[in-house]
Amino acid sequence: MSDAPNNDTVLVVEDDPDLLAVLPRILTGAGYSVRTAADGEDGLLRVLEDAPSLAILDVGLPKRSGYELAREFRARGYQFPVLMLTARTTVDDKVSGLDAGADDYLAKPFEYAELLARVKALLRRSTITAGSQTMRVRDLSLDPATRRVERAGEVIELSPKEFALLEYLMRNADHIVTRPMITEHVWKHDTDPLTNVVDVYITYLRKKLDEDRKNPLIHTVRGRGYMIKE
Ligand code: CA
Repeated sequence: MSDAPNNDTVLVVEDDPDLLAVLPRILTGAGYSVRTAADGEDGLLRVLEDAPSLAILDVGLPKRSGYELAREFRARGYQFPVLMLTARTTVDDKVSGLDAGADDYLAKPFEYAELLARVKALLRRSTITAGSQTMRVRDLSLDPATRRVERAGEVIELSPKEFALLEYLMRNADHIVTRPMITEHVWKHDTDPLTNVVDVYITYLRKKLDEDRKNPLIHTVRGRGYMIKE
């Protein structure tokens, strides 16, 4: 039975159909929830929809390589551990992978027990450091662990929903987030999509963050959504 009683979700991005079939079985058997994608674009979408606890990325993927994907996750502020899979074993490849933001590296072919051991170790490590990464956009900082938000050194009190909304905007800094994306992530569909709850909360956040300041952080992108800008 499972020795990993947890709610950890593992994303597997792999274009080899055999591995894409077998890895989820192995991981599910070890107690993890598993999401899969067969190319880099789809892998990114899976993460934007629902960030996993850990991602296993093949290096050679259609549309976006595992390296590009890892770099994109880090650029968007995601901190979950990344385990790279590759057939290539040169030191250069390993260095590129680690440079791109991978936390560990496993050369194919590998033993499934070895894969599980790495996954477990990475998740343990990330639990210890979870939330210790303070997010920053200009003079705004948000600490997911302490839930402390500051702008220009001034502490800003936020309600839980305001905090969740701001955290989501900051994780996607410099990228547009649409109202449906916000509804899904912050309200988990627990709202009527026709209401203007998102706009209302954006207004609340602006009042607390941007009012009386010269450089607003939250921008409306007409007809598309919102963006917090570096
Ligand atoms: Ca491949």
